[in-house]
Amino acid sequence: MTARLSPQRETEIRERAEAATPGPWGLYEYGHGGSLIEVAADLKETGTGYTARRGVARFDEEPLDNDPAHTDWTAEEDWAQVHADAEFTAHAREDVPALLAELAAVRAERDEARTELAKYEPLNPQQCREGKHADWLVDSEFTHACPWCQIEDLKVKAERDLDEVMKERDEYHEVADKLADAVAPIEVIGEHSSMNDPWANALDLITPKAEVDRLQGELEKVAEHVAKRAEYVTAINNCHPNNRHDYWRWQGHAESRRQLAQQLGLPVAWPAKSEEAAR
Ligand SMILES: [Zn+2]
Repeated sequence: MTARLSPQRETEIRERAEAATPGPWGLYEYGHGGSLIEVAADLKETGTGYTARRGVARFDEEPLDNDPAHTDWTAEEDWAQVHADAEFTAHAREDVPALLAELAAVRAERDEARTELAKYEPLNPQQCREGKHADWLVDSEFTHACPWCQIEDLKVKAERDLDEVMKERDEYHEVADKLADAVAPIEVIGEHSSMNDPWANALDLITPKAEVDRLQGELEKVAEHVAKRAEYVTAINNCHPNNRHDYWRWQGHAESRRQLAQQLGLPVAWPAKSEEAAR
């Protein structure tokens, strides 16, 4: 890498440029193929020569070249080199100030970029605090949690929640099985399979409360009916032995109520002792 231009060297270059005859400089070549080149400020060709504000330098046909390594140059090549040196000298008048100006402009741009960059200095480079996710890096004035760690935490939580839900599901499953078993035995509602749903079967078998209430009402009527047996037994006891018609009538009423009570498991309406006598 080229050594950086020291401030001192830059000052020297600037001072040389400022001290030299003000430009622009031009060059004038005598003859075709040349034998002499002159460099001058404000050089203007006239067709037969040139005019200038001030002559600056003169390059002639015999430059001093006493290094043996250069002795094989032809006269033509030698003249081309003289010409190049003259061009370089003449253009240095404008090239050096242009380079200095460009250097100043580049420095100004650099300083501006530094100022812009300074705004980001309070930013705080952050990485995974657990040290688990080296590829995650963020520059921010705010504090951020590592998103990969957050995803891991959420996964763990989701698994825990899923376990909880499955446990609850199993518990409800068990409760539903108990309910179904209470409705009807497994021989009736069957086992769980793709073709059979014992819960649906149990639901079909459950008698609604309204229906139970209605049947309860019917049963009360029957109990009331059966309870009247007592009156008929009394009527039999009070019946005159010669009145066979009434006797058998009361006897029929009483017996049918006794049979019904027996079939339904209802209490037979009469004290046991009197009932025995009534038979
Ligand atoms: Zn992380």
